[in-house]
Amino acid sequence: MTPAPTGEPRRAPDRRTALTALGLGWRSAPLGTAGLLALTVVLGLLPAAAAWTGKLLFDEIARGRQADAGRATWLALAAALLTFAGVAGDLVSGQTVKYVQRAVSLRVQDTLYRHVNGFPGLRYFEDPVFQDRLRLAEQGALAAPQGMTDLLTGTLRSTVAVTGFLGAVLVVWPPIVPLLALAAVPAYLGQRALGRRHVLVTEQNIATVRKRYFYQQLLTDAGTAKEVRLYGLGSLFHGRMLSALRTTSGADLAVERRGSVLQGALALLTAAISVIGAVAVVRGVVDGRLSVGDAALFTAAVAGVQTAVSGTVAQLARAGQTLRLFRHYLDVVEAPSDITGGHSPVAPLREGIELRDVWFRYDPAGPWILRGVDLFIPHGSAVGLVGLNGAGKSTLVKLLCRFYEPEQGRILWDGVDVRELSIDDLRRRIGATFQDYCRYDVSAAENIGIGDMTRLDDLPAVRRAAQEAGIDETLSGLRHGYKTLLSRIFLDSDRERGLALSGGQWQRVALARSLMRQDADLLILDEPSSGLDAAAEHQIHRALAARRAGRTSLLISHRLNTLRDADLVVVLADGGISERGSHDELMAADGQYAQLFRLQAEGYQDQQVGAS
Ligand code: ADP
Ligand code: MG
Repeated sequence: MTPAPTGEPRRAPDRRTALTALGLGWRSAPLGTAGLLALTVVLGLLPAAAAWTGKLLFDEIARGRQADAGRATWLALAAALLTFAGVAGDLVSGQTVKYVQRAVSLRVQDTLYRHVNGFPGLRYFEDPVFQDRLRLAEQGALAAPQGMTDLLTGTLRSTVAVTGFLGAVLVVWPPIVPLLALAAVPAYLGQRALGRRHVLVTEQNIATVRKRYFYQQLLTDAGTAKEVRLYGLGSLFHGRMLSALRTTSGADLAVERRGSVLQGALALLTAAISVIGAVAVVRGVVDGRLSVGDAALFTAAVAGVQTAVSGTVAQLARAGQTLRLFRHYLDVVEAPSDITGGHSPVAPLREGIELRDVWFRYDPAGPWILRGVDLFIPHGSAVGLVGLNGAGKSTLVKLLCRFYEPEQGRILWDGVDVRELSIDDLRRRIGATFQDYCRYDVSAAENIGIGDMTRLDDLPAVRRAAQEAGIDETLSGLRHGYKTLLSRIFLDSDRERGLALSGGQWQRVALARSLMRQDADLLILDEPSSGLDAAAEHQIHRALAARRAGRTSLLISHRLNTLRDADLVVVLADGGISERGSHDELMAADGQYAQLFRLQAEGYQDQQVGAS
């Protein structure tokens, strides 16, 4: 059974998450990170050095006539130099931070999308909870680089700065130290609570945010524009989009409001402590215990410590928030594969593919779609698969392509369980036109060529596939032939508009795509001609029949006439195979197939009569 993709509780960020996040900079840009840390230590020392220089300068000046002018000048110069060094250091450090963040960002995005792209099956993509998590992971991937560099450099710099100032503060008026330390406690608790609230709101909002984008897409997409207009859905979707936006932005605003109140309260606390300190030193100066320089140093030191502490506290609190989002990133990146794949290479098919007692349902709590299907597709044969809408034909195709794992039973490739085989290898041996094939906004040649990535630029091969699918003439006749962009939403490199194809023409393009894999062992066509007129379908099936000779194919069609030549016709009903045999055998058996066939034949005759 496939692992449940979701459902595990959302954990609070743990130490491993923090270490992984903190190590991101080091792993992505070791030199930049080392340089940044060194620079941060130096920059952290500068404010204290400047404050001490200032103190010495003030004390020198305070000596009035006895002051040493040369020494005072040097001190003033040193103060200026320190200021300059601070500015220059900040600039360099700012650029280095950007450099490291970019490296981390590239690495994190690369990893995230490589993993998402690496899930072999479809389950994760069809799981709403996973989709939510994916969006949060994207946010985590964006926030982590900045959050982590800020935290590293910020904390380091603050620690150095506080250490530098602490001596000055202790020398001048020690009681301020416990006051400063105590003030950090409510600041930390408040900021942490705010940070938690913020992530919680982000997590709660994410489904609504996705809905908003969904409605936004419906309103702006070229593909949905027809129905939206004909059915007058614009105001409905617009209203829903706006309501989603109101909900999420309202929740964001509430958090911002809490944040403002907290910042205000913390600023008051900071100011109160400064005032207490100021009163204490002013009295010291008046009593003659302290010099003017001491007072200046103390004021600068208290302000320095307060800035450093509140900065660190805010960063620590924000780090918790960043880490929680980053946890989602790790959850996605570490999510187990949804399909069991092996490493055995896949040899060309010799005997056939067998489904043995295959049971499948999309949802563990949902209805069974396939209930013990037994089917052998012999090598070199054309098998037609028939069944009513929803019988499970496309589902069976998806199982053959290994997009899902059967819940019970096995699929065997020449007698070998496909779970032992390399998934990529197996897929390379299959060509398929899915019922819901894709229309890519790329050139006509690429739309077909992507069927075999090794021959993406092989125009003769692309044209051969197009000829078999009966679309070569159409594509050759386009404005720029096969180079023509098939898109209504992009301009090509010459800034010309792309072209649109009709539904049936698109279907032929998709068919040509699946025919690119000339040496595929199994060709699957899931209603490849439902959008074609009867004459076109007949012509395509003739071309395909010639091509199929000696190769294995699985054909699904609602026009039973097209399956007449199949070696084996299989009827899928109630989750199992209800009839199997050649067309003639099934007609003779006079079951569901024969009934359906006669029904269609009558319809066809009616059409003929009507047409004549
Ligand atoms: P057919 O191709 O024979 O018309 P399908 O195999 O597409 O039928 O669908 C069989 C059943 O499985 C239908 O009842 C459908 O609702 C359900 N189904 C198909 N795809 C999914 C999916 N991705 N998730 C959940 N249920 C699905
Ligand atoms: Mg189908």
